[in-house]
Amino acid sequence: PPVPSAADAPHSAALLERARRVIPGGVNSPVRAFRSVGGTPRFMVRGLGPWLWDADGEKYVDLVCSWGPMILGHGDADVLRAVAEAAASGFSFGMPTEREVLLAEELVSRVGPVEQVRLVSSGTEATMSAIRLARGFTGRSVVVKFAGCYHGHVDALLASAGSGVATFGLPDSPGVPASAAGETIVLPYNDLAALEAVFAERGDQIAAVITEAAAGNMGVVPPAPGFTDGLRRVTARHGALLVSDEVMTGFRCSPSGWLGLEGVPGSGAPDLFTFGKVMGGGFPAAAFGGRADVMAMLAPEGPVYQAGTLSGNPVAAAAGLTTLQKCTDEVYARLGTVAATLAGAVEESFTRHGIPHRVQWAGSMFSVFFREGEVVDYDDARDQDVERFGRFFHAMLRRGVHLPPSCFESWFVSVAHDDEALEHAVRAIAGSAAEIA
Ligand code: PMP
Repeated sequence: PPVPSAADAPHSAALLERARRVIPGGVNSPVRAFRSVGGTPRFMVRGLGPWLWDADGEKYVDLVCSWGPMILGHGDADVLRAVAEAAASGFSFGMPTEREVLLAEELVSRVGPVEQVRLVSSGTEATMSAIRLARGFTGRSVVVKFAGCYHGHVDALLASAGSGVATFGLPDSPGVPASAAGETIVLPYNDLAALEAVFAERGDQIAAVITEAAAGNMGVVPPAPGFTDGLRRVTARHGALLVSDEVMTGFRCSPSGWLGLEGVPGSGAPDLFTFGKVMGGGFPAAAFGGRADVMAMLAPEGPVYQAGTLSGNPVAAAAGLTTLQKCTDEVYARLGTVAATLAGAVEESFTRHGIPHRVQWAGSMFSVFFREGEVVDYDDARDQDVERFGRFFHAMLRRGVHLPPSCFESWFVSVAHDDEALEHAVRAIAGSAAEIA
C-alpha cells in the first residue's frame, strides 16, 4: 500500500514546516499532528456543509466536525447571520449582556437537573471549575476519574486520560505535580465493584466522581446498564458529588445530551454537568452547572472563585444559541440516519474483507474498534490493531474522507451530511476496506 509522504500534500507540508518553527510540533492541539497515523496533517482553508478544502485544493467529507461542535455542518447561514449581527454590536465588553442570559436559559431548559450554569470558554475550564466547586462545596480534596475518560488538560484529571493522551501513550504528563495527581484516583470504566471498594476505604475524603456521560475519548464506550445509577447511589451515600461530563455528548446525543437518552438514573440525577463543543457552535463557549445550592457556592454569591475575561462572549454566545435553537428533533433523526449509513458501510465492507472490527454507539456518536468483541473499558480499547487503523485512515484520506486521525476518537457527523457526501464516504469505505484487507 502507498506510504503517506509530504509529496501527497505539498502545500500542507510547507505550512507544517513553517508552523514547526513557531509552534511546538506545528499544531495547537496534539492530536492534530497525525502522530499515531503518520503523514502530513492537512491545513484547512475552507469548510462548507459536510465538505472541507485543504491548502492543496483537495476536498474531503468531514467526519471530524471540529471534534463535535459542527453539528449543523460548516458555514450554516443562520449561525453566520447571528455571529455577524452580534459582532456588529461589539466583540466583547467584559460586562453582562442579554445573549448570555438567553444561552444560559436554553441550557437550563434543555437539561432538567441543571438549575444554574456558569459560562466559560472551553471544556477544560468547565471541568476544572466543576472540580474546584465540588471540592469547595464538600470541603474534601480527592477526585475519582475513570481510565480512558478525558476531561481536558486539567492537572487533577490528566491521569490515564483518553483522547490525545491515549494517542500518544503517555501515562501521565510531566508538569503535573505529584500532589495534584496524588489527589486523583483512577478506576476502570464500567467497574462498580472497584468504585465501591474505593469508597469503602476513602469515602469520607472523596469530593467528587467525574465521568464522561458516555465515554467518547477511548473510542465510544457507553456506560453499561446500571453504571450511571451505581455512580449516583455510591456518591450520594458518601456525600460526594457526581459530575457528568457532557462536553462531547451534550446536545449531540439528543436535545438534552446523553441524559436525554439514558434518562435520569433511578437513584437521582448527577449534581453537576459540564458542557462545551455543540453549545458553542464552533466558537469558544462552554459551561458547567447543576444544583442551585451547589452553584450558590460560586463567586460572587459564594467563596469559590472562578472568572473569565471572555466568559459569555457575545459572539460565541450568539453562535451557540443559534446552533442549539436549530437542533430540533428532526436534526437528531437525520444525524442518526447519517451515522447508521456510515457505520453500516463499515460493518458490511469490513465483514466482506474479513477485517476484525467492532462498532459502538452513543446516540449518533460511534467509533470503529479494530478488534472483535465488546469494549467496556480502556484496557479493551487499547487492545486493537492501531497500525491497521492508520492504513485505513490514509486510504480514506486519499479517497477524500477525513476521519479523526486516531482510533481512540469518535466519528462525528452533521445534519449537513447530504446524500452526495454519504455516497462519496460509503464508496471510500468500500475501497479503503479492500485496500487494507
Ligand atoms: N471533556 C470531554 C468529555 C471532552 O471530550 C473534551 C474535549 N474533547 C473536554 C472535556 C475538553 O474540552 P476542551 O478541548 O474544549 O478544553
